[in-house]
Amino acid sequence: MSRKPSRAARRAQLLTAAARVETPGDCDVAVIGGGASGLVAAIAAAEAGATVVVLEQDLECGRTILATGNGRCNFSNVNLDPRRFNDPAFVETVCGPRWLDDILAFFRESGLRWSLEDERLYPSSRQAASVRNVLLARARRAGVVLAPAREVEEVSWIRREWLGQLGHAAHYDPDSSTTQPAGMAEVAHHMPGGGLTLPGARAVVIATGGTAFPFLGNLGLRTNRRVPVLCPIACEPSPLARLDGRRAHACVRLTKADSLFPSWQERGEVLFRDYGLSGIVTFDLSRRAERGDLVELDLAPDLNAAQLRQLVDPWARGGFEPGCLDGVLDPAIASLLEELARDGWHVDWPERSVPTDDSSALIALAKGLPLVVQGPTDTEHAQVTRGGLATDQFDPETLASREHPWLYACGEALDVDADCGGFNLSWAWKSGLVAGAAAARWALS
Ligand SMILES: Cc1cc2nc3c(=O)[nH]c(=O)nc-3n(C[C@H](O)[C@H](O)[C@H](O)COP(=O)(O)OP(=O)(O)OC[C@H]3O[C@@H](n4cnc5c(N)ncnc54)[C@H](O)[C@@H]3O)c2cc1C
Repeated sequence: MSRKPSRAARRAQLLTAAARVETPGDCDVAVIGGGASGLVAAIAAAEAGATVVVLEQDLECGRTILATGNGRCNFSNVNLDPRRFNDPAFVETVCGPRWLDDILAFFRESGLRWSLEDERLYPSSRQAASVRNVLLARARRAGVVLAPAREVEEVSWIRREWLGQLGHAAHYDPDSSTTQPAGMAEVAHHMPGGGLTLPGARAVVIATGGTAFPFLGNLGLRTNRRVPVLCPIACEPSPLARLDGRRAHACVRLTKADSLFPSWQERGEVLFRDYGLSGIVTFDLSRRAERGDLVELDLAPDLNAAQLRQLVDPWARGGFEPGCLDGVLDPAIASLLEELARDGWHVDWPERSVPTDDSSALIALAKGLPLVVQGPTDTEHAQVTRGGLATDQFDPETLASREHPWLYACGEALDVDADCGGFNLSWAWKSGLVAGAAAARWALS
């Protein structure tokens, strides 16, 4: 009976396979980063006739895709509204009016089939590996050289026509204790000469995702500060910490610290944590909420205050029976709200009157449980980073740098981010298609 290889054995296999990849001395298009946008850019460039090499620092290309959508990969959304992005005008110009059709046609041709959940698109298999595998297979069919365990440290332009030269990569030094990425150093050790050289390229596509890429500063490119978003939110200590682990379907409202009225709201599942809030709606909230803002949770979004009154205190005597909201809310949450209502608990916020009787206080808490934001937290698990290459430096028709026409960027490397729901991957796919095709046109012209 064959047994699954251990993690160490699998790693050794991947290192050996990476070391065996031969990269050509030069190519038309080099894609730096073999994640979501980089793989699509490479396919688009190769299918347009260019020779393409993908340089990926990880031991395999496409690993980032595997973690998406809790392993199920919410790869797109039927309502691709540019207003869900931080830079709607740029996104709209890059992606065009038939954005979703373009993405679906690309994946249909790649052999992927999908299903719809609300507005979200998932592979029919509900496995992110399906998305990654069809991309890897199509890239190989198109002749793309996938070169993992190659961390690119530098991109430089040598002043010769048509030659963008990729800089050197780290060399393996067995005595060094410095922080060389393990894959890179180890794979170099597996190769004759103990080092790696990277190919020269006529065009370069930056598809390095949300990680900082400092050398781009040497090319005079501006990078907006990177901030993790789509992550949980820490809130000021409150009795709600006792709800740690409980989930609720809520309408979440955000009121900025300098405003009297909510500026944003969204419905969905909220996960209470001892530090604050998590869950998909909270992730979307994290793109907008800052320290000192007020978040209110409407825990009974399908009932108005008068309907709640019928359950809590039909005769308006100002009190309520224990458990009166158990049929509407998670009883553990309802019980805490009852306690808070009786204690007169509230947060100080201008224009928020404090109810004087217990039943009104309970209804107010159910319709707007208040929390004051401290800021994003658990940021190492953030799904996206805001920030990156400032978009005004790139032509939205081609995603070419206005300053360096041989340099292209796509995906999260650019300062583009969006809400949860398949929007970020949709941007990765479409911007990869645009940048890859344009880079091939430049390289082959
Ligand atoms: C846990 C999680 C779940 C997510 N779920 C979803 C979801 O369901 N739907 C959705 O739309 N979005 C989701 N996202 C966001 C989505 O994954 C990203 O928006 C998308 O992957 C960005 O694509 P990209 O190509 O720009 O970057 P990545 O996919 O991150 O690819 C960048 C690649 O570049 C490589 N790289 C970086 N620096 C170098 C270097 N110097 N040299 C060589 N290689 C380098 C990296 O190793 C990586 O492989 C999720 C993100 C996370 C973290």
